[in-house]
Amino acid sequence: MEKDVVKKIAQLVRAGATLTSYTCPVCGTVLVRLKTGELYCANCERTVVLVKTEEEAQQAVEVVQLREVRRIVFDKILQLGREIEKLSAPEMIEHLRSMSLLLDIYERLSRIHTEASKQQAKSF
Ligand SMILES: [Zn+2]
Repeated sequence: MEKDVVKKIAQLVRAGATLTSYTCPVCGTVLVRLKTGELYCANCERTVVLVKTEEEAQQAVEVVQLREVRRIVFDKILQLGREIEKLSAPEMIEHLRSMSLLLDIYERLSRIHTEASKQQAKSF
């Protein structure tokens, strides 16, 4: 470990952080746990998300991918919302049905994100 990094870690510990038995996946430096609960690498100067198993790693990837799907669904909802203005009543009802379906999916996807971030907080 570089002297500077050791000094930085010492500073963080003095400020209330604690040393952990985890190491940075990028550079191998010992991670400290900040008062906020986050793991931090003093060498990379960034927080590190701890992933325990292959399954959890896969899950983390999926959550990120689902975030993209959620964005697409959200864009579609906005698009439909802009279109209903010019439609006749029966067409509007069709559109609103589609919107309602999309909103359901959007809500479910949002729930997955909330659950995922709660679980992440717990695993620390
Ligand atoms: Zn690092």
